[in-house]
Amino acid sequence: MAWDLKAGLERRRAEHLYRRRRVLGSPQGREITLDGQRLLAFCSNDYLGLSHHPQVIEAFRKGAERHGVGSGAAHLITGHGTAHQKLEEELAEFVGYPRALLFSTGYMANLGVISALLGRGDNLFEDRLNHASLIDGGLLSGARLKRYPHASAEALARQLAAAGKGERLVATDGVFSMDGDLAPLPQLARTCAEHGAWLMVDDAHGIGVIGPDGRGSLAHFGLGPTEVPILMGTLGKAFGVFGAFVAGSEDLIENLIQQARPYIYTTALPPAVAEAVRAALKLVKAEQWRRDHLAALVQRFHAGAERLGLMLLPSHTSIQPLLLGEPERAIYWSVELERLGILATAIRPPTVPAGSARLRITFSADHLEADVDTLLAALDSVKQKEGL
Ligand SMILES: *Cc1c(COP(=O)(O)O)cnc(C)c1O
Repeated sequence: MAWDLKAGLERRRAEHLYRRRRVLGSPQGREITLDGQRLLAFCSNDYLGLSHHPQVIEAFRKGAERHGVGSGAAHLITGHGTAHQKLEEELAEFVGYPRALLFSTGYMANLGVISALLGRGDNLFEDRLNHASLIDGGLLSGARLKRYPHASAEALARQLAAAGKGERLVATDGVFSMDGDLAPLPQLARTCAEHGAWLMVDDAHGIGVIGPDGRGSLAHFGLGPTEVPILMGTLGKAFGVFGAFVAGSEDLIENLIQQARPYIYTTALPPAVAEAVRAALKLVKAEQWRRDHLAALVQRFHAGAERLGLMLLPSHTSIQPLLLGEPERAIYWSVELERLGILATAIRPPTVPAGSARLRITFSADHLEADVDTLLAALDSVKQKEGL
């Protein structure tokens, strides 16, 4: 064996960076079964509680009966069915863009867009806290990648002013996945317009949960295709299903169909998945109470955590990170909470920058106000215990 695989694993263990999978024995929800243990959970991205909604399940079941299970081919062969086509039209209408294109995952959508649009000699600019898939898309494209300090349109402007020849694309999370804050999209859009750059927003954690009718971060700021020519949204988070889409102009979408390798060289989503997303989209639009309830939970938590003197990041979304610093400390809190029957996962480098390990606490419309109080009481007791 040429590589010492064991040494790498040991090093991770010593640095408290070893990751371990746990086995979920229930659907997502406020209470889950993990490794056989019943826990009150604050970890999923199923923000609206749609992953186990009866109408979504029924659409999935009926979809499988009508279309079969597997799509059997890539979209450009015979895998693109009526369910995919209708879903693309409905998503485009929902976000207010001329067209939308389905991808199998958000990770692949980001790889596909960036590598189709940029090549060697082009320039890509990204927020330091962007999701890994946006960074990996840049690597796949071969473009020059510059990362600007988190949420700084000023620093971006300086980088754009100094950029060399080639196309210019700026990519940002809409809602940052590990911090929960919103990108300053109006400022970024203005900066892009001033410097002839295109703006791409990855709204994985905004679509469905933020803005009027859950139309996402862009709608929240009153922005659209003119300011943000490329919008990516995922369907496995607030939509509770699986997959992703990219919205843009006719020409953008046609270019992706011709050139995005992560779109072309993969099997189309199962059509039943597309049917389930269509049912979820109806609920996203119709049931504002889910977003209202979620906002009330977040506010209750935020106010309670402040009273307890807990170090929350300045987020008003369903992602409420409790900053703890070193990986060891984040793990201590996570383990202590679990003793109290509560699950909140420790997020460590390299997912977040060194020194900013945290508990990533997320809320879902499934939670009750009493669950927030239970969580706050448990956090307080861990805080007291740590202080001893
Ligand atoms: C989850 C996530 C993705 C990836 O989406 P998947 O559909 O899970 O592959 C991309 N970007 C961001 C910001 C995410 O949080």
